[in-house]
Amino acid sequence: MAASMRSARLHEPGQPLRIDTVEIPEPRPRDVLVRVKACGIIPNMNAIFSGRLWNHLPPLPASVGLDAAGVIAKVGSEVTDVAVGDRVYVNPWLSCGTCPYCRAGEPMLCSAAAFQGYFGFFPHSTRQLLDYPFGGFSEYITASPQRLVHLPPQVTFEQAARFGYLGTSYAALRLGQVRGGSWVAINGITGTLGVGATLLALAMGATRILGLGRNRDVLAQLRALAPAQAWRNRSQYRRLDGAARNPTDPFYDRSSAIPRLELVHDGRGPVDGRDGEAWYA
Ligand SMILES: [Zn+2]
Repeated sequence: MAASMRSARLHEPGQPLRIDTVEIPEPRPRDVLVRVKACGIIPNMNAIFSGRLWNHLPPLPASVGLDAAGVIAKVGSEVTDVAVGDRVYVNPWLSCGTCPYCRAGEPMLCSAAAFQGYFGFFPHSTRQLLDYPFGGFSEYITASPQRLVHLPPQVTFEQAARFGYLGTSYAALRLGQVRGGSWVAINGITGTLGVGATLLALAMGATRILGLGRNRDVLAQLRALAPAQAWRNRSQYRRLDGAARNPTDPFYDRSSAIPRLELVHDGRGPVDGRDGEAWYA
């Protein structure tokens, strides 16, 4: 194995990443080294890496990249349950394992939580980011075996690199107890999470999906998923209003920039007033 690799690193908030040559990390005894084959990329990275938000960036220069998938290239001396050659998705969620929330089995509430290759939620999340300092825009990253998801042969690395977002949408739909016959309202349906929620809601048996989105191309693709679906333009929001007054089971809000459904109920169209579309089947 070569001694060095390429890694996209953030040197200064708000500035473009630089492709640097760095040493390939050696996995700690209970960690693995993964050769990255695909990594997710999302527009929100621009906001996070601007350094202007509340998020705590890793120490700079930071190797970044969220939601990586690849092949295990090396295992630490104490790792027994995964092997070199395994195809995996690397869950980027870092939880400390020792805070009251982690001990209560709620790692998503960890008081030192962080996303590997992305940011920490608290100042003291930095320790975890330093333990796993490489993001998915590197040729190799280290990870703990507990965070690996084995990929069946039919799942590509590119698909797996979307697991983080699909999982978020899936968790929301499960929380809303979506089942056969459910109605689902998705605010921000053309975003990453909204598209995932649409696909998953259909797979879970939802019979009607109410959605608001601003990207007409994506709206067209969503519509094509089920040819019987009908479009409603802004002037027809009142019909959406009528539909939404029926028992819509879960309400899934994926956007703070698009109106809450209650505003749609007023029949006044999207808050931005320009190019929103209502979609309802
Ligand atoms: Zn914790």
